[in-house]
Amino acid sequence: MRSNIPGNTSLSGIGSTGQGTEHVGDSFVMTVNIPQQLKRTEFRFVLVSKRAKAPVEKQWTTINNYRFDNQMLRNWLAQGGNYGVCCGYRGLVVVDSDDPLIAERSQERLGVTFRVRSGSGRGFHDYFTVEGMHKKEIFERDGKHLGEAQFVGQMVVGPGSIHSSGGIYEIVNDTPICNVNVQKFTSLYDFNGNWRGRYLHGKNPWHGARTGTNFTIDTEANLWTCWRCHCRGGVARAIALKHGLLANCPDVLSKAEYRRVIDLAKRHYGWK
Ligand SMILES: [Zn+2]
Repeated sequence: MRSNIPGNTSLSGIGSTGQGTEHVGDSFVMTVNIPQQLKRTEFRFVLVSKRAKAPVEKQWTTINNYRFDNQMLRNWLAQGGNYGVCCGYRGLVVVDSDDPLIAERSQERLGVTFRVRSGSGRGFHDYFTVEGMHKKEIFERDGKHLGEAQFVGQMVVGPGSIHSSGGIYEIVNDTPICNVNVQKFTSLYDFNGNWRGRYLHGKNPWHGARTGTNFTIDTEANLWTCWRCHCRGGVARAIALKHGLLANCPDVLSKAEYRRVIDLAKRHYGWK
């Protein structure tokens, strides 16, 4: 942990831990600084008690959240409080991974993004802005297995905050926040498969597989293949199958069904 020159309260010279020291009264207090990547006027932050994880105020998802430059938030941080980053604002999604494999995969497929190591020392918070992301639910199916993609109504403890163990929520990739589209994002987190190059192999998400894998997603062409039914489809039929408009992989969409798919795509997947 770095210590600044006593009395130096300027923002310069603060390391990537987001921590600095500030001279308050007779003692030096560790202060938290919100990093540049999060200083966007569309993002919102909440007050979290010193070494705690949960928001202090009620109604933090609606009323009691603040811009990075809010004076109350700044005072709170100056007094050694923790803070939380609200997910869902401006498409902000934080992938909370307990499993290092997931963190690796995310980096490999989506690129290096702003990453914070949890103050517990276990797991990472990977920050993304996801275009077309509307709900958390599309990530829930394998949520348990992969960790969670935190979105609207959720928050994560912000970088620079201190965990109850004393560990710092430390920035490990001090890079910009990656912007990805929702299809790319869901192909990574909504489907439990194995990557081979651009292909993702797994069990058919609609009718499953009795043994092994029977389903492949070509993540570049955005096409899927069901090897049991010997058929192939694109995004529209995937949505139709997922939402029960079609019952079997080889089924074809009628014009009316196609219009309903467009509707679903608008409502659930941010299609414009
Ligand atoms: Zn099939």
